[in-house]
Amino acid sequence: MAQETDQGSQPRPDDVTIVGAGIVGICSALALQERGLSVTVIDRDEPGQATSYGNAGIVSPWSCVPQSMPGIWRSVPGWLLDPEGPLRVRVRELPKLMPWIARFFANTRLRRVHEISNAMDMLMQGNIEAYQHLLKGTGREALLQHSWFINVFRGRRQPDLSELSWQLRMGRGAPVEIVDGRELREIEPELSPQVAQAVIVKGQARALAPGEICRALAEKMRRQGANFLRCDVKSLRPNEDGSIELETDRGLIATNKLVLCGGVWSVELLEPLGIQLPLVSERGYHLEFSEPGVRLNHSILDVSGKFIISSMEGGVRSAGTSEFADVGAPPNYRRADILAPMSKRLIPRLNTAQSRRWVGARPSFPDSLPVIGRLAGIRNLYGAFGHSHYGLGMAPATGRIVAESIEGSKSNLDRSCVSAERFL
Ligand SMILES: Cc1cc2nc3c(=O)[nH]c(=O)nc-3n(C[C@H](O)[C@H](O)[C@H](O)COP(=O)(O)OP(=O)(O)OC[C@H]3O[C@@H](n4cnc5c(N)ncnc54)[C@H](O)[C@@H]3O)c2cc1C
Repeated sequence: MAQETDQGSQPRPDDVTIVGAGIVGICSALALQERGLSVTVIDRDEPGQATSYGNAGIVSPWSCVPQSMPGIWRSVPGWLLDPEGPLRVRVRELPKLMPWIARFFANTRLRRVHEISNAMDMLMQGNIEAYQHLLKGTGREALLQHSWFINVFRGRRQPDLSELSWQLRMGRGAPVEIVDGRELREIEPELSPQVAQAVIVKGQARALAPGEICRALAEKMRRQGANFLRCDVKSLRPNEDGSIELETDRGLIATNKLVLCGGVWSVELLEPLGIQLPLVSERGYHLEFSEPGVRLNHSILDVSGKFIISSMEGGVRSAGTSEFADVGAPPNYRRADILAPMSKRLIPRLNTAQSRRWVGARPSFPDSLPVIGRLAGIRNLYGAFGHSHYGLGMAPATGRIVAESIEGSKSNLDRSCVSAERFL
């Protein structure tokens, strides 16, 4: 991780400055460079070391199922009471979360689910090809592998393709099928014989190391002339002439156009400017088994436990769980540790003896969609944040929308569903 850092210089006046070098900031920088614009990227850390580092690595054109599915409220009490359940809420944060929760449940209405699903589809389609294009020439093209998504049902629950979550995918052409235990063992030999059925979604990809994808793309961005400044942005100050000043721990930086790609931290910089958005920190954990003793061919989702397990460069990674907790609250690593027995139930030969724990904060809006584009009220300020569970998959399209917004070019995409104004 300790890589030589380019401290850089002040941005050039025609630069676009991006705050945040997670996958969203990096893809935005590359999209701007493709259109001939020069970029300065600022981060307090090396690129891709925050939420974009530890995710489950799914890149799927078929991720069009929002979190706010109808009837989800029926599952919530059981999830909260089960020690291995996928959901936790810090009680002391409940009062602050209530308005977000109310908006979340308002989005479970069927009409909203279809609208959100359409918007997710717009942000996901073509993501595999887009990464192949972005990774070209980095020497790390193999970090993205074609893969299937194996949805495993434990206990009494059986797969049912007439459910809305499958219908949303299949209605868009996703290749989805139910396979039985015998066929499943041929596809993924390490899966437990207890697993009798699964739903397979084909035509996906998986990242073998999401943090390495960030690193490879950030190096490409620098080779193409991007200026990378490593500093902490403390506040933003819009000026009358349309420029924006950034107060950082290394002094003042001025820019003509600013794109905020700060993930869950974005709102800290916006609130003092009077921009209030319902973005919360939805933390997730991973446990990576460094000597797994097995190799998995695909990404496997435990449908009840809501975690994804797959082989990565560093071992076998189990990632998931939703914990609504302030981004600065101390991690509760029990949420990561429970993934060891749960993973072993799925993959009996998995060696869980050596593992690394990780926590990261998903930047989540109550409608599963990000904010992308101009932030109304402040000239030359743009945002690209709030990608919740889907940022790796949505980052290439996000970059394109950022570039189009800055160029002022028309596009065929309906950007209103990702506009910050939907919350104002
Ligand atoms: C357990 C888990 C599993 C997931 N699995 C998947 C998956 O399989 N597929 C998928 O598509 N998505 C997945 N996600 C979601 C995905 O990881 C996120 O949506 C994505 O990483 C968000 O990227 P980002 O660039 O917006 O944020 P980040 O990666 O958090 O980047 C934001 C950057 O901004 C910098 N920054 C912020 N504020 C400042 C400041 N003031 N000054 C300087 N720098 C600043 C930070 O240092 C950071 O580097 C998962 C998430 C979790 C937690």
